[in-house]
Amino acid sequence: MKTNLKNMTLKEMETYFDTIGEKKFRARQVYSWLYKGIYSFEDMTDLSKPLREKLEEFAMIETLSIEDLQISPKDGTRKYLFGLSDGFAVESVFLKYRYGNSVCLSSQAGCRMGCLFCASAIGGLQRSLTASEMVDQIMAIEKDVNERVSHLVVMGTGEPFDNYENLLRFLELVRSKEGLNIGARNITVSTCGLVPKIYEFARDVPQVNLAISLHASNDHIRNTLMPINKKYPMEELLDAAKAHIAKTNRRITFEYALVRGVNDSDKHAKELAGKLRGMLCHVNLIPLNEVSESDYKGSGRDKVEEFKKILEAAGVQTTIRRGLGDDIDAACGQLRLGK
Ligand code: SAH
Repeated sequence: MKTNLKNMTLKEMETYFDTIGEKKFRARQVYSWLYKGIYSFEDMTDLSKPLREKLEEFAMIETLSIEDLQISPKDGTRKYLFGLSDGFAVESVFLKYRYGNSVCLSSQAGCRMGCLFCASAIGGLQRSLTASEMVDQIMAIEKDVNERVSHLVVMGTGEPFDNYENLLRFLELVRSKEGLNIGARNITVSTCGLVPKIYEFARDVPQVNLAISLHASNDHIRNTLMPINKKYPMEELLDAAKAHIAKTNRRITFEYALVRGVNDSDKHAKELAGKLRGMLCHVNLIPLNEVSESDYKGSGRDKVEEFKKILEAAGVQTTIRRGLGDDIDAACGQLRLGK
């Protein structure tokens, strides 16, 4: 089997070139070509012909295939379905903001966290993605729209902290100067609350932003919505969040999907405010996007506004997330396993 160069860090590629009897600096040349989107060794014009032939024989550069693309007539959001080499598929979303282009990418095909309101959980986990497969969601989209992507959110299907090693490798590839060169501060990783990994993440990549899917103001509610809470209850989760802030000095985002009649009352808002007050954090509210397989409904606009008012009155910064792409099922929690 040919070696996939796209899954290698620059350092690893240097070692690889060493083992095939080539000079290390050749690795940097190939790495740069690769991240410019040149995938054919033939087109890497500063390599000698014998080297190009050698690479052709032993190495390859993996790319995902675009199986489907939907474009929102409402806001131009683009939802891609990518085919993986073994037949699985993942979805990714391209969003245009005033501050730049953003990609919401998947870290796993499927997900085993089982949150009851989320489409990605249906059918469980197929498998974790390689770093290469994560990077290529971005590169394939850049190629398709012919524009640069400046911001990343790891908020597609999957739990990134359930695929931690590959997540770290992915972050190195996208951040490296010779790679995609995307600033850590423009990258946000979202977790449903794998507490031990939050501590590791603060230590390993303190410059990358963290978002935590909270969705409840107490353990009772969170236990019914998110099975992970039975393993890592809210107090432990909030302690980990505080440790992350202390270590990184970065503001954490708490995602809170308002579910009608479940977590959206004034009482819940006050309870939440009591827990978050004084933390360097901000709450991102979103009315739950409806998923056909679940009976949970989103809260109305008024409820969302009211919830925001209560949090803000208590000094907790709050924004309401726009439902970009909801007309094509590309909004939060609506990504699922391919057809
Ligand atoms: N597993 C990670 C990454 C997924 S991010 C995590 O849980 O954070 C996707 C975000 O969309 C999460 O905040 C998730 O809780 C949220 N979400 C899931 N289903 C949703 C729905 N139906 N409506 C709104 N948000 C939803």
